Amino acid sequence: MINRKKIIAGNWKMNKTQGEALALVEDLIRDIGKFDEAEIVLCPPFTSLSAVSELLSPVPNIKLGAQNMHEAASGAYTGEISAGMLKALYVRYVIIGHSERRQYFHEDDATVNRKTKAALAAELRPIVCVGETLPEREADKWKSVLETQLTGGLAGFGDKELADIIIAYEPVWAIGTGKTASPVQAQEAHQWIREVLRKNFSPVAADKIRIQYCGSVKAENAKELLSQPDIDGALVGGASLDARGFTAIIKNACLK
Ligand code: PEP
Repeated sequence: MINRKKIIAGNWKMNKTQGEALALVEDLIRDIGKFDEAEIVLCPPFTSLSAVSELLSPVPNIKLGAQNMHEAASGAYTGEISAGMLKALYVRYVIIGHSERRQYFHEDDATVNRKTKAALAAELRPIVCVGETLPEREADKWKSVLETQLTGGLAGFGDKELADIIIAYEPVWAIGTGKTASPVQAQEAHQWIREVLRKNFSPVAADKIRIQYCGSVKAENAKELLSQPDIDGALVGGASLDARGFTAIIKNACLK
């Protein structure tokens, strides 16, 4: 069996000024200490990336991520940020196609595909988000929704590209709602995602890729969710804004 190192990322969304971000990172550095059983990623807003990057530069076990990027390398795209700009700040990961980007900014699978390609070209590791809405789950369409998002978002890629990608499964009905997919529901979806990847890539590549669960992860549910065989980490929203809570998630996620 392939041993996949867990990856826990905090998606701060549109929260924290630069000063507040630095205070949170200082607390996290103290609370997380040298813990390195999981890969740990912080995704603050763009405005704090530079300062947080500097603070994290002597900290080997906490990496920096961004919440979004534009697909073009440069140009007349007012208000946008390129992969190269992120890379220059020592950003290592970038969240692509989060359900909030899909819902409020009309990103679709083709956008996700172009952004993922641009991220990989800049040597950033994309965290590609997929997930069904509540009506889609209730109509029992979640499998086909996930398959469409995966094949569209990852179109044109091979095993080489897949090796640098992380998938985040976010049941949209569990994002910021306090509702969590049960460990059984989550495992079933993760297993399906791996099965779809196995059909489209080699079985080895599908076995190696890490699939994060995303949706109201807390210290109290992290161990049960992350002990499921196909759940390899978590993308954490609200609960990543509190140093103690996020540290507890990271440590509980690694409990056997
Ligand atoms: C998210 O949107 O990335 C997320 C997981 O949010 P929350 O944990 O707050 O549900």
